[in-house]
Parts: sequence; C-alpha cells; structure tokens
Amino acid sequence: MLKPICTASSAWFVLLLLCGVLASSPATAQPTQQEEDGYLFHDSHFHLTNYVQEGTDLEDFLEIMGDKVGRSMLSGIPLQQQWMYANTGEFAPTYYTQTDAPLYYYSFTDAIIAHAYLRLKPEDRQRFDPMVTGFNPTDMYAADHIRRVLMTFPGVFSGIGEFSIHKEFVSSKVAGEVATLENKALDRILDFAAEVGMPVVLHCDVNTPFPRPNQDPYIAQKLRELAGRHRDATIIWAHIGLGRVVRPVKDQLAMVERGLSDPESKNIYFDISWDETAKYLVGSPETIEATANLINRFPKRFLFGTDSVAPKTQEAYLKTYQIYEPLFARLTPEAKHLLLKGNYERIFDEARRSVRQWEAANRQR
Ligand SMILES: [Zn+2]
Repeated sequence: MLKPICTASSAWFVLLLLCGVLASSPATAQPTQQEEDGYLFHDSHFHLTNYVQEGTDLEDFLEIMGDKVGRSMLSGIPLQQQWMYANTGEFAPTYYTQTDAPLYYYSFTDAIIAHAYLRLKPEDRQRFDPMVTGFNPTDMYAADHIRRVLMTFPGVFSGIGEFSIHKEFVSSKVAGEVATLENKALDRILDFAAEVGMPVVLHCDVNTPFPRPNQDPYIAQKLRELAGRHRDATIIWAHIGLGRVVRPVKDQLAMVERGLSDPESKNIYFDISWDETAKYLVGSPETIEATANLINRFPKRFLFGTDSVAPKTQEAYLKTYQIYEPLFARLTPEAKHLLLKGNYERIFDEARRSVRQWEAANRQR
C-alpha cells in the first residue's frame, strides 16, 4: 500500500520557508467600501463547467452566489474528457478519474464563457472576471489564441487560467505533447500575459505523487525559474502546489527554500483554494496556527477561492469556505479582509483596467 511520506505539518514547513522568503513586508489593509457589503468573500478560483463542458447556467450561479459571494473569476475547463466507447462503453465519464481515455484541449470553452457573460445584465457582469483557458500550453500558437479571444470578445476577459502544467492524474492523460515548465510556448503565454496585464492562474503540483525519499523535486526548481523569467507577469499559484496526494516531502525543504528565496519573485501569489488543499492547511490545530500566523504576517500574498466545479447548490458551493472557517477565525481583521476580498479586488481591478486599455490600443490599429 502506498503511504504518504510526510505529514501535513511538515508540508507546512515548506510553505513557511517558501512564503517567508518570498513575502513582501506586512501590508496595511485598506478596507474598502466592499468590506461593508456583507459578502463573505470574492472567489479567486472557480469553474463554471466540468470536464465534459457542462455546468451551471450563469444566471443560476448568480443565485447561488446570492448575498454570500460578491465577485468571482469565471473559468471553464480547458480540457475535455473523451468518451471512448471502446474503454467505457455506454458509461459516459464526466471526470478524468472515471476512464482511461485521454483528455484533449477544448478551445470552445472560451466562447462558452464569453457567451454566458455577455448574456448577463451589465450590472451583473460587474461581479465576474472571465478567464481565457482554452489553449494548449505546449503550442507556440497558444499566446496567439489568447490574443484572438481578446480581439473577438473585447470587454470580457480579465485573466488567463486556471490551466495546468504538472497535475496529478491529469498531465499523463492529455493527448499529444506533455506540458512542461520550460516549454517556450509557456514563455510566450507569460510574455503576453505581462504585456496585456492579465493575471495567470497556474496549476502546477509542487512535486510528483508518491515520490521516493531521495527523489529530486525538480518541479519546484523549474517553477522558480519560470517565475524568475517572467517577473512582470502576475502568477497565482493554484492550491500552493498541493493536491490530493501531492504534498511537500521532507527532503524538499532545502531545495524549495533555495529555489524560491529570490526576493525578486514578488509576482507570485498563493491561492489556497480546493477542499483538497484545505485538508492540509486546517488538518490540525498546529497547521491552523502556522497557516494563520503566516497569512497574518504576509496578508497581501494569499487569495481564497473555492475551486468549485459547476456547483448546483449554495451549500455545495460554500463547502470549502466552511472548511476554512477555523483558519479565518485566527486571522487579524486586516489579513482576513485581504485574503477574502482585498487582494482579489486589487489584482482583478487592475487587470480589468489594463486589459481594456490593451484592447482599446489594439483596436485602433
Ligand atoms: Zn481549479
């Protein structure tokens, strides 16, 4: 039987090191008007559709957000799970773990998101930040796809992602060339993101699942190098690199610290979304304490998101928020505000302004 190599608390040592050396000086929170709005949070990580491109109607999702969630980024899923008759017969898989058939990149997801957004009333659109995801990150033309989406749907999109480079159980299922952090196509995507001012939500596991004790955690080093090559791009590291089974291991500590100790890497933000991430961060009183201390010290670097996929009810949608409540209770009012709303507003308000400016400049040519 496979056994996890480290505990949740040793996972936290990695994050303490990693964030301690990356973080900017503790921020002074600027509570905004929205602080008084009564909303619990803005969602920095959300998927309207699932792995077979089906999902929640956006009007219905507004109802689900209700008076609990103020704003949300709006992402499809860039990958489509093939229904391969030879593999599952009449059983139609809706999730990548349900079949051995491959996943493939599905660009129409961006049109689905734009269409859903544009059907909303203008005042309701203000609550969403649509994201471009429908590209193959190994394709040198990926950046051209993103540009084309902005030109086709001006006034709609704010950012890029979530898309994945290394992801447990997913990367090896994707048809075609496997995505890597040193692919020039990814450099082109991040160059374009920086040019336009689109924040990038990147899923990249910090390690492979079930590594051997002395295995070189090469992914963390390559991620650090990627961030270093693209200091003008805002990179939101989804789930802080954690996953169902991917967790930092003990022999990673020195390397992660070394790799991420570059004080210039202030363009990296940490998204604590996903109930699978929450299981590490609120796994024990010690991890809650350590997490809260860290966010309190570096409150500008963390974002909360649900990573909910096509939710059907408000109860299902708010599940991850509720798991994190013991953590929120340990935050200072300033840190709580920034984690749940303030950092979202700062990053995505700036993105909207910047992308609209780029679109206007490029329309004139
Ligand atoms: Zn996600």
